[in-house]
Amino acid sequence: MSKASVICSGCNAGHTIEVPASINAAREPELKELAHSGDLFTWECPSCGKTNLVSFPLLYHDPDEKLMLWLAPSDDEVARIKPALDAAPEMEHYTLRVVAGPGDFLEKLKIHEAGLDDVVIEICKYVTCNEMEKDVELRFFRMDGADGNLVFTYPKDGRMEMVAVGFNVYEDCRGIVERNPQIKEAARGLVRIDPDWLRRFFA
Ligand SMILES: [Zn+2]
Repeated sequence: MSKASVICSGCNAGHTIEVPASINAAREPELKELAHSGDLFTWECPSCGKTNLVSFPLLYHDPDEKLMLWLAPSDDEVARIKPALDAAPEMEHYTLRVVAGPGDFLEKLKIHEAGLDDVVIEICKYVTCNEMEKDVELRFFRMDGADGNLVFTYPKDGRMEMVAVGFNVYEDCRGIVERNPQIKEAARGLVRIDPDWLRRFFA
């Protein structure tokens, strides 16, 4: 565990909380559960009771799922560790991702759990934004119904709105990845895959 200094958004009181520096999901199922529920990234203020959000550097490793997510590392750390991680034979079938914040972290977990490809999902988000003719920040939420509709959320006027697209959109976007080996190649290894990353292919 490491310590994090936090300030309550309700009463401005400062506190120190304990947060894990790394989680091995196979060995620490209770922390895995907290990560999946999102409760890992909340803390309750002992002064006023308000529930606050917190982000902290975290290396999340699920060996059974072959998933490694690295939350908020420094650029130096990524530069130092990426070459060895990308070259390690035991990491070959892993999904290795750098994520910026808890929202990105939870989205990657959900995408992986649903058995989907995060690169294809980013293209789906791009296509869906264009269809909506809105510049909104879509996040994958879940797969729905027998047809496997993809449900995304986005913030609007302080609330969460949802938009669903058919699984055919996912299949079309997967086709785009298949036809563009440079996208596939760029997504190999420890990479941060987000709308900014995608933009260089769709400029
Ligand atoms: Zn408080």
